[in-house]
Amino acid sequence: MLKPEKKTGEQEHNQTSKRFFCNGGGGALGHPLIWLTCGQYGTVTCPYCSKKFHFQQSE
Ligand SMILES: [Zn+2]
Repeated sequence: MLKPEKKTGEQEHNQTSKRFFCNGGGGALGHPLIWLTCGQYGTVTCPYCSKKFHFQQSE
């Protein structure tokens, strides 16, 4: 019997670009690919999988 892999806690994913896509990582956790754009605070949360993305500015 397969256990659903439920991820607890919030992961932060550092991005090097302000605009990027998320598809939930594919597999069972996947979702339709959507584009996300970091706002002025440099963070955005995927509305599908609730992953948090953090944009690291290089200066
Ligand atoms: Zn996502």
